Amino acid sequence: MVSLPSPERHDFFADDGSPLQLTRYRGGAKGPVLLVHGAGVWSGMFMLPTLEENFVQHLVRHGYDTWLLDWRASTEMPLTQFSLDDAAANDMPAAVKKMRQMTGAPSVQAVVHCAGSVTFFMALASGLLPDVRAVVASQVAMHQDVPPVTQIKSLMRVPELLDIGLDSLSPTEDAQHPLFQAAFGALANALHLECDSTVCHRLTFMYGHLFQHARLNRETHARLDEQFGRCNLQTFRHLAQMARAGHSVGYDHGRAENLRRHGQTTPRTYLHPEHLRLPITFVSGEHNRTYLPTSTERTCAWLRAAHGEGLYQRHLLEGYGHLDTFMGATAARDTYPVMREALEATA
Ligand SMILES: [Zn+2]
Repeated sequence: MVSLPSPERHDFFADDGSPLQLTRYRGGAKGPVLLVHGAGVWSGMFMLPTLEENFVQHLVRHGYDTWLLDWRASTEMPLTQFSLDDAAANDMPAAVKKMRQMTGAPSVQAVVHCAGSVTFFMALASGLLPDVRAVVASQVAMHQDVPPVTQIKSLMRVPELLDIGLDSLSPTEDAQHPLFQAAFGALANALHLECDSTVCHRLTFMYGHLFQHARLNRETHARLDEQFGRCNLQTFRHLAQMARAGHSVGYDHGRAENLRRHGQTTPRTYLHPEHLRLPITFVSGEHNRTYLPTSTERTCAWLRAAHGEGLYQRHLLEGYGHLDTFMGATAARDTYPVMREALEATA
């Protein structure tokens, strides 16, 4: 196992004042590379203590100046209600700016995952990240294809039905809503029988199947509650809206409010390729059932149609699902090299 250099923690603020955090591991002169986690997790998903080599150790071992972002969707940050538009406009530009300030680098690379990737690409497509020189997009970017049964589509009605003033959903125990959490656990246990972990079953209910069980080692599966936590409901609603639209759209505030904010009754689309003319590598787990592999296939094809074949690559990660690409017991052998090699060309 690679021993990591001491972490350097940088607290700073998004452009609208939300607290953010960057954690730096100085692995060498390559990069700097920004890692962006998904929703309802934190940057710890890239550095599980239960793996022989986690993704951060892998990058450090190969000489990368590695920066982990905790954006407003992080379980380490205060819970707020926000749309991904808010985070795209305010968090991602502030994070890149902070990295450039601290390193003096003219540009950065990024590895972005799931809702973090969706948000990062919304910022990129809006022209807010001109200092990003290459991206590895994990599982999803501008297009979202979810399985027909995915609860994310119907999940939005659960809190309304229960009407208990819930502001978030969590796979772990929730001291503020113990009765709801017990009922949620019982429901999830009844629906999902693949293991004996209620935390795991609640995760499946919230996000669809996040990993192939056989890919996780026993300790990682037993300690899932350390990685996952509360996800606010507005973010869930926004992800559900995008899943229904099939691509990245602004949050639907309702006709009147959309008109007031954006001058049109429907939410705006982010499908503008002009600012996405940079090297992008897409990776999808072959068995991903959170976002189907066609999600990255569509974004890759759309960009190739706009800017030609040369800049865009895509890899299907054989035998992998969604999060096991980072959390899998043998990911260091199977998936990390694919993502790292994509960075090497522009390191
Ligand atoms: Zn499980």
